[in-house]
Amino acid sequence: MTPMTERDLLMIPGPIELEPAVLRALAQKTTSHVDARFIAAFGRALAGLRQVAHADGAQPFIIAGSGTLAMEMAVQNLVEPGDAAVVVNTGYFSDRIAAMVERAGGVVTHVTAAPGDAPSEAEVEAALVKVKPKVLTITHVDTSTGVLAPVARLAALGKKHGALVVVDGVCSLGAEELRVTEWGVDVAFSGSQKALGAPPGLAVLTVSPAALAAHAARKRPVASMYADFHEWLPIMKAYESGAPSYFATPAVNLVAALDASLAILLAEGMTARLARHRRVAGAFRAGFTALGLTPLPARPELAAHTLSAIRYPAGVDAALVGRVRELGVTVAGGLHPALKAQYFRVGHMGSVGPADVVATVAAIGRALAAAGHKCDPGGAVAEATRALDA
Ligand code: PMP
Repeated sequence: MTPMTERDLLMIPGPIELEPAVLRALAQKTTSHVDARFIAAFGRALAGLRQVAHADGAQPFIIAGSGTLAMEMAVQNLVEPGDAAVVVNTGYFSDRIAAMVERAGGVVTHVTAAPGDAPSEAEVEAALVKVKPKVLTITHVDTSTGVLAPVARLAALGKKHGALVVVDGVCSLGAEELRVTEWGVDVAFSGSQKALGAPPGLAVLTVSPAALAAHAARKRPVASMYADFHEWLPIMKAYESGAPSYFATPAVNLVAALDASLAILLAEGMTARLARHRRVAGAFRAGFTALGLTPLPARPELAAHTLSAIRYPAGVDAALVGRVRELGVTVAGGLHPALKAQYFRVGHMGSVGPADVVATVAAIGRALAAAGHKCDPGGAVAEATRALDA
């Protein structure tokens, strides 16, 4: 087996390869959380998050914890026992938010589709009409299936029927279009380790005035003190206005890393960044098609630009992931419980570029050929580069 080296390529749907500037920020001397340098970094990160999410007028939160904490905060702060929620279910992470709503005492109506597909807008609207939920949840990109949900249109339906719209942007924010304020998204949340380009460990959210008002109108306080918007709101406001404040110790180095990463995102500009992700995703698709592989998402418009979920061809199984790994590229296996063993996933977000496309398509092609699948790895690389240049 080839030894793993520090130059092996990490191509899973998070964590991702990080920019050296982000790693340098992470490795800086840990400061006090009331140090002027940290106050400035935290303030910039909060403002940067609002910009990346196009969330003018919303309150950003950055809290130590993974994306699941961000999901938990969205649910725990908005859902009280007996509240109804409609969950647009596109896979494993939609199941997770539904389970959280139930733990909060909420009553879930799933609007589901077959794995790899998404429910129609008519089905979602029918559920909204029937249930009149307090909350509509949408998984922007379900990382288990690589399915991209039409958030703008679904959020508009949620608003039309008076629901608070919660969007899981863990596998989308920073790489897929997400215009929080314009689209009427009340809570958008994510984690630091995917398209935001930082190490794992930070939960991020933007919360609309309407969602904060719903929180303020709760009958009972949020059971978890750490997850309560009420505890964190003054802290976030203080740091963004240039003053320190304490509720629980912030992850000083991770915030510095996120600050560095958001600076890179904003310097590239969201328009250019989204276009680059679309181009890279298209190149991967061209390469995979040339290798004779088919995507899991049922239709091209359902395919995310942050990862590809691809079915194994006949005669090839999950051992492929290990073979690709031996060729120096780490990709991920399947995750959706219903078809876990039938597909694999390649993450392509953050500072992903042409070299990553070429290396990854080549490694997958060579591993497929070694597994007995008839294909032309060189030809697939050529197709991928043609798509990059198109
Ligand atoms: N939602 C989605 C869409 C995700 O992809 C993930 C992580 N893969 C999560 C939620 C949970 O985030 P974390 O693993 O950071 O807790």
